[in-house]
Amino acid sequence: MALMITDECINCDVCEPECPNGAISQGDEIYEIDPNLCTECVGHYDEPQCVLVCPVECIPKDPEHAETEDELMEKYKIIQESLG
Ligand code: SF4
Ligand code: SF4
Repeated sequence: MALMITDECINCDVCEPECPNGAISQGDEIYEIDPNLCTECVGHYDEPQCVLVCPVECIPKDPEHAETEDELMEKYKIIQESLG
């Protein structure tokens, strides 16, 4: 499932450049994850890179975007194809 950033985010900006899918961006008040682009880092890394670097641990799984490992891998392939 995609991950999400909670309102505990302190806008430190360290997660954005770590995302291999470009899924993280600055929102109106805090950083946001585009669920269409987040693969939980499946296809790139063993662990979600944003979770590893976030100093306040505010990036849980998003229960509204439940996906299996296979679905995440499929999403990864679609993103790669769209990048050409
Ligand atoms: S889990 Fe990976 S793909 Fe998803 S937002 Fe974090 S760094 Fe990006
Ligand atoms: S690393 Fe955590 S606190 Fe920093 S911008 Fe990203 S979500 Fe917010």
